[in-house]
Amino acid sequence: MKILIIFLIIFLIILSFNFRNIKRIPKITYVRWLPKPRRGMTIPPFGIFVRKEVTEAWEEKHEDVHWAQYQKLGLFKFYFKYLYEFIKNGYFKNSFEIEARKKGGWKD
Ligand SMILES: [Zn+2]
Repeated sequence: MKILIIFLIIFLIILSFNFRNIKRIPKITYVRWLPKPRRGMTIPPFGIFVRKEVTEAWEEKHEDVHWAQYQKLGLFKFYFKYLYEFIKNGYFKNSFEIEARKKGGWKD
């Protein structure tokens, strides 16, 4: 139980640190695994996560647009509105993804 509380405190410290730096350039981390069929994921305030094997430049541009959406809306509004749109319109038709495809790119 104690260890859980310690982890929670560390997590909150990291989170509060990231909150103050909303205008920062996102850190891109290359990962082995993401839930399929995701090639990349923007998880504010932590950064952008892209599959190791993905080399297309548009993928990072696409995620950069999501990061800009987060910077514009703030953490809670971003997640809340994204989730709302996701439930209402699904993945491809939600306005966050439409904007990211238009400005960033997407290869069909
Ligand atoms: Zn997207």
